[in-house]
Parts: sequence; C-alpha cells; structure tokens
Amino acid sequence: MKPTALFQNGGVRVNVDCETTLPGLWAAGEVTCGIHGANRLGGNAQAECFVFGKIAGEQAAARAKEIDFGQVEEEVIVREKEKVFASLNKEQGFHPHKLKEQIQDLMMEYVGPLRNEEGLNLAMNYFKDIGDKKDLLFTTGKSRIMNIEWMEAIEVCNMVDLAMVMTSGALLREESRESHYREDFPEHFPYGDNENWGVETVVKLKNGEIKIDKVPVEYDEIKPGEFEVKKVDVPYQTFRA
Ligand SMILES: Cc1cc2nc3c(=O)[nH]c(=O)nc-3n(C[C@H](O)[C@H](O)[C@H](O)COP(=O)(O)OP(=O)(O)OC[C@H]3O[C@@H](n4cnc5c(N)ncnc54)[C@H](O)[C@@H]3O)c2cc1C
Repeated sequence: MKPTALFQNGGVRVNVDCETTLPGLWAAGEVTCGIHGANRLGGNAQAECFVFGKIAGEQAAARAKEIDFGQVEEEVIVREKEKVFASLNKEQGFHPHKLKEQIQDLMMEYVGPLRNEEGLNLAMNYFKDIGDKKDLLFTTGKSRIMNIEWMEAIEVCNMVDLAMVMTSGALLREESRESHYREDFPEHFPYGDNENWGVETVVKLKNGEIKIDKVPVEYDEIKPGEFEVKKVDVPYQTFRA
C-alpha cells in the first residue's frame, strides 16, 4: 500500500479570463495553477473546474468565431512527426517503461511532499541522465494501434521535463509551507515564511534550459497575518515511510 497524488498544485499560468501565454490557448482546472496556493482544500477542485471551465469555454468559443484555422508550416509538422515516431523507428536503445518507472520512483522518494536539498539534487542528476536518453528510446512492438510502449515513449519525454521543472522549483524554495515541506527548512511550517517567500515560482523551459523567476504574490483582499488562524487540537504532522 502506498499513497497516491490527489492534486497537482502547480500548473500552467492563466489570467482571469483563463488565457495562457500561448495565443489561442485557454486552460482551466487541475492543469492550471494559482487558485489554491500551496494546498488545495478538500472539495475545491470540482468548484474550480465548474467556475473556470465555464469562463475558459466561453472565451475560447468567442475567439473561435473570430478566427480561422490559420496555417501550420510544413517544416513544423515534419519535425513533430519525426519526434513522435522516433522510438517506433529504432531497433535498440532504452526501454521507455523502465525509464518511466525510474522517474516515478524518484519522484515518489525525493520529490514528494517531504523533500530536502540532498534528495532533490540526487533526483535532479538522475533526471538529467534520463533526459539525455530521450532520443534513444525504442519500442519492441512496432504497431501504431494500441501500442502502450509507444505511448510510454512519448510520455517519458514529457514526464522527465516536468520532473526537472518540479525538482528545480522545490530546490529553489527554501522554506516549508503546506504541501511543500523542506526537511532542511522546517521553520514557518505550515503557513510559510511570507516575508521572504510570499512569491510564486514561475518556471519556463527555453531551449532545453529551465529558467525560474520569483514573482511576488499580489494580495488584494487579505494579506498573510491579517486574519486569525484558530488553533486546533490535532497538530500538523509529517511522516516519512
Ligand atoms: C482520488 C481522487 C479523489 C478526489 N476527490 C475530490 C473531491 O472529493 N472533491 C474535489 O473537489 N476534487 C477531488 N479530486 C480532484 C478532482 O477530481 C480533480 O482536480 C478534477 O477532476 C480535475 O479535473 P480536470 O478536468 O481539470 O482534469 P482531468 O479530470 O484530469 O481531465 C483531464 C483530461 O485530459 C485528458 N488528457 C490528458 N492528456 C491528454 C492529451 N495529450 N490529449 C487529449 N486528452 C488528454 C485526460 O484523459 C483527462 O480526461 C480528487 C482527485 C482524486 C485523484
């Protein structure tokens, strides 16, 4: 028996109209970030989907009426096809399933809610190593129909990028708040060090390089410390299996 992920706190940045930074792309729900901060409370995810799903859908529909499909350059299509079919066209290399399992195990062990610098750095080194193998994935079966191995080869490429982004963000944030507990920075848990870390971690992947910015949180109604948090008898506890 082991715990499973209930919710992804980080995600794609959107504005109040659910627009992403990619023109013509709207997003809502768990794939986005910013609504819940460092911890999503029970029941709020469904409410988020209803509220922001409606906004995103309406905005996207309105935009669709104004524009046509546009043109995609042939060169881009060829490049993407090569990337997607690469593992099917190889006869040897690395098995996607093994690498996928390795990513999952590393994320579970070192990048879960309890993390520390040593473990995060260790995981990061492994992820870089897995990232170097992305172009060497191969599938034993060559079918294009219901080929789980092929699907995993595509997944591994995205998973390892995302794993590196999450690990970099966790390494940068030297404090503990809610579902981010740095064992080497236990102070301020669970409410966080708002003086130094009242920021959002904004990560971009450009030309294979991870770029992280700290963007100050804009508090427009209630600032941290302006409301009283009632103490309850059951304290926050952290357990490492
Ligand atoms: C066990 C569990 C219990 C939960 N209980 C509650 C609860 O009690 N209350 C609450 O509010 N929230 C709860 N949540 C959270 C809530 O269910 C989710 O946050 C919410 O359903 C997310 O909805 P979504 O539409 O944003 O994403 P999803 O429901 O994950 O939908 C994303 C969809 O995109 C599809 N997809 C993915 N990749 C691709 C691709 N490349 N191409 C095309 N499609 C793709 C997926 O197949 C999926 O159908 C729970 C979550 C879990 C895991």
